[in-house]
Amino acid sequence: MDRIGPIFIVEGPNNSKVPYSRSLYLDCSEKILIDSGADATTLLHLDHELGVNLIFNTHYHPDHTQHNYLFKNAVKLINPIEYETTRTLDGIARAYGIFQEWGQSAIEKWKSSIPQKWMESLREISGSYEYETEYQFGKEKIIFLHTPGHTSGFSCPYFPELGVVFTADYDMTSFGPWYNGADGEIEDFIASGQRLLSLDVKTYITGHQKGVFTKNEYHQAMKTYLSIIDRRDEIIERYVQQGLNFNEISEIGIFYPKNALQKNPILKTWERSGIRKHLKRLGYSIEEKANEIIKM
Ligand SMILES: [Zn+2]
Repeated sequence: MDRIGPIFIVEGPNNSKVPYSRSLYLDCSEKILIDSGADATTLLHLDHELGVNLIFNTHYHPDHTQHNYLFKNAVKLINPIEYETTRTLDGIARAYGIFQEWGQSAIEKWKSSIPQKWMESLREISGSYEYETEYQFGKEKIIFLHTPGHTSGFSCPYFPELGVVFTADYDMTSFGPWYNGADGEIEDFIASGQRLLSLDVKTYITGHQKGVFTKNEYHQAMKTYLSIIDRRDEIIERYVQQGLNFNEISEIGIFYPKNALQKNPILKTWERSGIRKHLKRLGYSIEEKANEIIKM
């Protein structure tokens, strides 16, 4: 396991790709785990060897929270905005965009399809931490930066004295920025990305794939990463100009591969929700009944 001073980097299966993620472990008197999406066996081993007493979740998505349930005796906390929204399954379904895209009957169908274990992992969260507040754990300080965009409550744990920030889903992957839930916002995503660049940091650690970036590498990667937003704008604008309606654009596969959209209803939900955000940004509104795109 790689480490940076007291921070252990705990990998998820398959290079921490979705549906898993990278976790951090802070070796201090409070025995802290940040996100629980890493490999279950490695996490259990860590618990056995060093102990886990406190879990901080950056946000509610299952690829970052799914192994909370393995730590029955640990206190589990999440950001204050999402502590509220994740108290009920309806709250999660709304944040995911299921209600927005398909209405209440789809929520009921979704509820019956979700794995018990990840619901358990969310249910066991008993409270929230505060944003922008310096916490001291042993010798280490952590500030949970409020960095909305990926989700509205998303936080990046920042270790000012170690010069490290855990950027989780500001992950610099080739997929590009993900803001596709009903609680995601493109403009917030860009602002949070810029904020991460403004930090006094030597090392950036992402939640998926590559993982550890020097300051220089992360700054370079952010340019390419955020430019994917503009490319999506251009693609969608072109389809609007060609006269395609909202449903037709949603079937092309702009975020996800076309065949994945047909197989997986949640990806279809996020494809539609993501396109909606770009249309709004481009100055279009959708006339829902006729399914037509109108310039505002
Ligand atoms: Zn996420």
